Amino acid sequence: MRVMQTFTITKKGQEIAFESKFNSLEDAKSYLTANVKYNDFVNDLLAKKKLSDNQISWVHYLATQDAIESEIPATVGEFLPLVEKMYSAVKSNARKFQVRLPGITLSTVNKGVNVGCVYVFENNNYVAKITTNGELIGSVSEDVKNLLEDANDNLLQLAKIYGHETGTCSICARTLSDPLSIQMGIGPICAKRLG
Ligand SMILES: [Zn+2]
Repeated sequence: MRVMQTFTITKKGQEIAFESKFNSLEDAKSYLTANVKYNDFVNDLLAKKKLSDNQISWVHYLATQDAIESEIPATVGEFLPLVEKMYSAVKSNARKFQVRLPGITLSTVNKGVNVGCVYVFENNNYVAKITTNGELIGSVSEDVKNLLEDANDNLLQLAKIYGHETGTCSICARTLSDPLSIQMGIGPICAKRLG
C-alpha cells in the first residue's frame, strides 16, 4: 500500500505544503537522478551524504513537481481533430470504427495499449498510427500525409469522394443503391456518424 507523505517547503517566502508522489527519500532521489539534469541545486542536494529535514522536503518537492509536469502532454499533435472525429463516431467500445478513404483506411482501436489511437492502413497494410494526442507515428508517403491532412479538415468529404469512386459506402462497405446515397457518395445513417 502507498503511504502518503506530506512535506512543507518555503519557496520565495511562501510556505508550500504538498503530498509527495514518492514513498521514500531514496525513490525521490533516484527519480531526480534519472530525470532532472544539469541543475546545480539538484546536483548539490543529490551529492550530500546527509540531508536536513528541509533538504529532504526539497528533494520530494522537486521530484514530485517534475513527475506532475511530465504527465501533462507537452504538445498537441497536428491530427488531434481527426482522432476526436473518429472516436466520436464509435458506437460501442467493443467495436472498431473504420472508414475507407481513397487510398487509405483509418481505424479506431478497441483493445490493448493503443486504445485511443487511430491506425492508418495503406492497401490493407498497417503503415502508421496517430496517437491519442494527435501525433503521427510511422513513415508514410507524401500522398498518405496529404490524405490525412484532408481527413483532418473534412473526413466526411473524403468519405463521400470514396463513395463516388467505388460505389460503396466508406463506412459500412455496402453498395450504394439508393439514388440519394449514390448522389451523396455515402449512406444517410453512416453520414450521420461522421457528423
Ligand atoms: Zn454505410
